[in-house]
Amino acid sequence: MSTKTANAEAASHESMFEAVLARLDVAAKLMNLSDDVKTILKNPVKQVQASLPVLMDNGKVQVFEGYRVVHSVAVGPSKGGIRYAMDVNQDEVMALAAWMTFKCAVANLPYGGAKGGIKCDPRAMSVGELERLSRSYVRAMKDVFGVNKDIPAPDMGTSGREMAWMLDEFNRITGEDSPGVITGKPIALGGSLGRDAATGRGVMVNSLEALKKLGLNPKDITAVVQGFGNVGSHAARLLSEKGVKIVGIGDHTASFYNENGIDIKAAIEYAAKNKNTLKGFTGATEIPSGQLLISKCDLLVPAALQNVINEDNAAKIQAKLIVEGANGPTIPEADHVLNERKIIVVPDILANSGGVTVSYFEWVQNKAGYYWTEQEVNLKHDHKMEEAFGNVWANADKFKTSMRIAAYITALQKIELAVKLKGNY
Ligand code: NAD
Repeated sequence: MSTKTANAEAASHESMFEAVLARLDVAAKLMNLSDDVKTILKNPVKQVQASLPVLMDNGKVQVFEGYRVVHSVAVGPSKGGIRYAMDVNQDEVMALAAWMTFKCAVANLPYGGAKGGIKCDPRAMSVGELERLSRSYVRAMKDVFGVNKDIPAPDMGTSGREMAWMLDEFNRITGEDSPGVITGKPIALGGSLGRDAATGRGVMVNSLEALKKLGLNPKDITAVVQGFGNVGSHAARLLSEKGVKIVGIGDHTASFYNENGIDIKAAIEYAAKNKNTLKGFTGATEIPSGQLLISKCDLLVPAALQNVINEDNAAKIQAKLIVEGANGPTIPEADHVLNERKIIVVPDILANSGGVTVSYFEWVQNKAGYYWTEQEVNLKHDHKMEEAFGNVWANADKFKTSMRIAAYITALQKIELAVKLKGNY
């Protein structure tokens, strides 16, 4: 295992982390952020890389690369998910950790930011291999994690199942039952009601707040949602329950459009019976996947992948409002095109912060040992999201900038205050 500071490994200008820093620079300049705080935020607090030996089902040992980056602890213990994917690397984990710092600060949660990952293909591994890998990761990161230090959660390729194994391993090592050390757990192990739908719910609340500002009634609005997994399907369902007509949906298998509106309940039931995919759905006309983002609609919700909105399709998008359910769906060059076209973008670090907000509620409930109803969770969530949206909107107005840069400014104001109050060292 090796621990080192970020500036030891200069990231290339094409790096994801550099892209985060570029947006940080724009916001920092506008708000006149102190150079000291900017320098601190450009260097993650801690980076841990570990080699994880795992006994595979074929009797041989395979060694996996594990990462954890704690980007900031200025506001509180660091928070961020663990990703299992083949393209996990140091730069990506650094960028995702920094996003978590800003996301938690925008949502006004008492957390810093972190992220972790293992370079692996979870779909090619057996359940037993995944369990041994997850436990091996926790053994390697035992000194990083802690209920008041660094609190992981699921991300791409992981779910409540992995969190349950990780919690068990951590508790075995420490000899204590500490459910709050990990969030996104199954309900039976101290997970929170409402966590599953929380990110989609946050997308819905942010959409309604933005529509209110634009003077639009949700019942007069059409929407297209890309991605029909956790975020996209809940966002589409909750938006349609508020009267929004969902005219387009899509996933990696197929995309669909129906100007009369798609029955989202029927699409969810179809996907549930079809390995969580939409291919073959008959409630709308199938369209080429490249058409979905540029189809006619008022509201566009990218809720699948990063980097899907680029300079080319940004010029063709017909929506007046984009609410980013996915992390990083818009490349920086497309920001410029969307701004010029006066399309309002509610950025990822605000729009998809509903998930980490309910993770925070899970941690609070674990600490208190007292659990809330789903209705209580949802009410508290909606209130936090509305407040966060209002703060970002006000900063966009004050600094005459986009919602994206305003979200960074909102986060940086909170982080700068915390750093200054802690004093010099
Ligand atoms: P998921 O795995 O549940 O769903 C992903 C969806 O995207 C699936 O429907 C998949 O088919 C679709 N997809 C994949 N490739 C596609 C392609 N090429 N074209 C169209 N659709 C494609 O993942 P999720 O949890 O819903 O996460 C989606 C995004 O939201 C990711 O960027 C993730 O980082 C972000 N996010 C998720 C959460 C959360 O709580 N789940 C929180 C914050 C941000």
